[in-house]
Amino acid sequence: MLQIEIWINMKVRFAPSPTGMLHVGNARTALISWLFTRSMGGEFMLRIDDTDRLRSKDEYEVAIESGLKWLGMDWDLKARQRDRSDIYESKIEQLKVAGRLYPCYETPEELDLKRKSQLSRKLPPIYDREALELSDDKIKAYEEQGRKPHWRFKLNHEAIIWNDMVRGEIKFDGKDLSDPVLIREDGSPLYHICSVIDDIDYEITHVVRGEDHVSNTACHIQMFEALGAKAPIFAHLPLLSDKEGGKLSKRIGSLSLKELQDDGLEPLSVVSLMARLGTSDPIEAFCDIKTVIDNFDISKFSRGTPKFDPDELLRLNAKILHEREFDEIKPRLIEIGLAELDAEFWNIARPNIEKLLDIKDWWNVAKNPVTPIIEDSEFIEQALELLPECPWSKDTWKNWANAVKAKTGRKGKQLFMPLRQALTGMDHGPELSELLLLIGYDNAKERLQSHKKAA
Ligand code: GLU
Repeated sequence: MLQIEIWINMKVRFAPSPTGMLHVGNARTALISWLFTRSMGGEFMLRIDDTDRLRSKDEYEVAIESGLKWLGMDWDLKARQRDRSDIYESKIEQLKVAGRLYPCYETPEELDLKRKSQLSRKLPPIYDREALELSDDKIKAYEEQGRKPHWRFKLNHEAIIWNDMVRGEIKFDGKDLSDPVLIREDGSPLYHICSVIDDIDYEITHVVRGEDHVSNTACHIQMFEALGAKAPIFAHLPLLSDKEGGKLSKRIGSLSLKELQDDGLEPLSVVSLMARLGTSDPIEAFCDIKTVIDNFDISKFSRGTPKFDPDELLRLNAKILHEREFDEIKPRLIEIGLAELDAEFWNIARPNIEKLLDIKDWWNVAKNPVTPIIEDSEFIEQALELLPECPWSKDTWKNWANAVKAKTGRKGKQLFMPLRQALTGMDHGPELSELLLLIGYDNAKERLQSHKKAA
């Protein structure tokens, strides 16, 4: 049962930082946010979190957008944080006036030393607010040395409680958190404050993000309050683990959407997996995105760590392709240079492919010239004599193999391998029962006779 209230003016945002490619973990957050929004009839916003001017790159923004579109996502509005500096400035001023921002003069090295000393005394590495105790003389001295302040948000030391859509009730106490830095030494604002100001300005009602943001959320809630706004509803998704439950390896964790796309995966297999992984519902291969939306229920997501198995993606991919009708797939076959491939070929070959490009192997081995391997020509001649006449059916292979077996006394590998080698020039490949039909009588006959020509 859907437990989420029906929202009027529901608005959800996905807020990637364009400092790299979108990897599977981020893509999952994006998809879940989007499916949630679309399933509830809300508005979806793409917000580019590019406050880190040094690491943010236009090419990453372009790649992120094309990855999201590849998945089938769309958005109703888009904003970039770099275009909103004036808005941030006025709100930051408001926080300064209210005494919620204070200047700090520690260098990164001094802060690091503090942290190490706290840890060695078994104390949590929480900022000690030394900056609040600085005398005017000390501040003057720092400024004369050329030190520029960074600014921290002064958290109220009180309970912070919210009801998370995925994790249930979450409690923090302000005193257990470090006052977050909101403004760098060069005066530029950092993610936390920009994110909160944007969420307020764009009237975001729900924030779906990874559980690595839980303690940020505790700080953000106080920032929303300090700016006189109501915090949105939060859903913190557990981060993906590998299939054994361990941390995703660098290789898999950093798998980008672009790599999945280049690897020939169907976007719907990624969507199908992400819509269900980590929920109480079984993973299904969905054949269209509307059905995914119609069946999506964010209340099914749990706190348990979802296990990401790339092989599962492949299985879903295969299933989705196996359901595709020839007419649907035809334009893509033309795109990959298989304009001649017809419905009959598709229907026989499709249960045997995992990715669309696999169909090419079938096509090549069935229709393009091969160099048959014939080691025992006597055996192959006997097989040729027994090759059934047309029309062929799905039983043709079985009938032929049985006849050859009866005549020659061969069985198992001794029987199949020379036939495969003669018919395909390879010692592995798709099931011969299927392949034989695709090769067809004329090609099969020619291949079985090829040693005669060669002789
Ligand atoms: N840019 C942040 C990130 O990628 C956004 C987090 C959020 O959704 O607020 O982690």
